[in-house]
Amino acid sequence: METRVVRACGDPGADREVMKEAAGIIKAGGLVAIPTETVYGLAGDALNPSSSKKIYEAKGRPSDNPLIVHIAKLKDMERIAEDIPGTAYKLAEKYWPGPLTMILKKKEIVPYETTGGLDTVAVRFPVNMIAREFIEASGGFIAAPSANRSGRPSCTTAKHCLEDLDGKVDMIIDGGEVGIGLESTIIDLTGGRPCILRQGYINEEMLRDALGDVETEAPETEHPKAPGMKYRHYAPKGIMKIVQGEGSHVEEKIIEMVSEHLSREEKVAVISSHEKYQEYLDNFRDRSSVSVYDIGSTEDEDLIAHRLFAILREIDDTGAGYIYSESFDTPRLGKAIMDRLYRAAGHNIIYSD
Ligand code: AMP
Ligand code: MG
Repeated sequence: METRVVRACGDPGADREVMKEAAGIIKAGGLVAIPTETVYGLAGDALNPSSSKKIYEAKGRPSDNPLIVHIAKLKDMERIAEDIPGTAYKLAEKYWPGPLTMILKKKEIVPYETTGGLDTVAVRFPVNMIAREFIEASGGFIAAPSANRSGRPSCTTAKHCLEDLDGKVDMIIDGGEVGIGLESTIIDLTGGRPCILRQGYINEEMLRDALGDVETEAPETEHPKAPGMKYRHYAPKGIMKIVQGEGSHVEEKIIEMVSEHLSREEKVAVISSHEKYQEYLDNFRDRSSVSVYDIGSTEDEDLIAHRLFAILREIDDTGAGYIYSESFDTPRLGKAIMDRLYRAAGHNIIYSD
């Protein structure tokens, strides 16, 4: 299959031809990668079991890992979910359209192929205009997991999608770089208390604001309610470690570890805050086997979230066998950022003091 990359801009008039073509692909059971405000999605018709099967195949994703169904009208939630609790409407009012996914009881119309065999369905109403035009044009119900191959960092540009999905999807809609760069927050509304299953841009405090009472699933639960959380995610090819500790102990430890690798002529990468970046450069001047990435200032957590996945991909391209990252435990997005980093590192943490 040839994968076509086409541009869209989010203006319904200008995008009309692209959307017509993309919708034709979806209605015929094909796949299209699309931008959203979180990360790029790998889209198929959520109500067509064979489309969902194709998504799993294209991603190389285990079929017990359910897909998120994207809608473009609040009312459409009621066509795919039943016994919808008041909490869902409260959250929708505050945070939809936006980067929040709600787990609800599914209606029969949603095939088990889409929900990974579960009686619940994950529903999201994205804010990105290109995504919304596309969902509307394609019949209103789009299954779209992140567009990366299973286990790889999520895609934040159309180029990343092409790296992972060339020949596996009919079309990639290039809407430029995504805004947020981390996947949606997932909240389960099917139990007693609303429970956060995956951290994201809509953080705990914002959810508490809307609902009052919210619990969080422990990060290393053995049988997580969001089945995807049990898989190793975002895994770079090298061995990755996260260094934690107070102040300058962190860079001292990282410099010490990197120096050991260099003495063995091994390739290393460092993910650095902007504040410590120059210090690594000064230490490893003229050492071509060290790549240091400035992920942004710890004062700018949106930038850190935005750059994280792209940096993990770039590191793979350098062929680094070892990767050291600082910890970015920032106030608003720290939990979401660290969740991705811990998974990327397979929970490999070094304490520097
Ligand atoms: P991704 O689309 O790659 O962001 O992954 C979707 C995530 O949503 C996966 O980790 C799934 O485990 C989770 N998810 C999707 N549907 C459900 C569901 N019905 N119940 C719990 N988690 C879900
Ligand atoms: Mg994913």
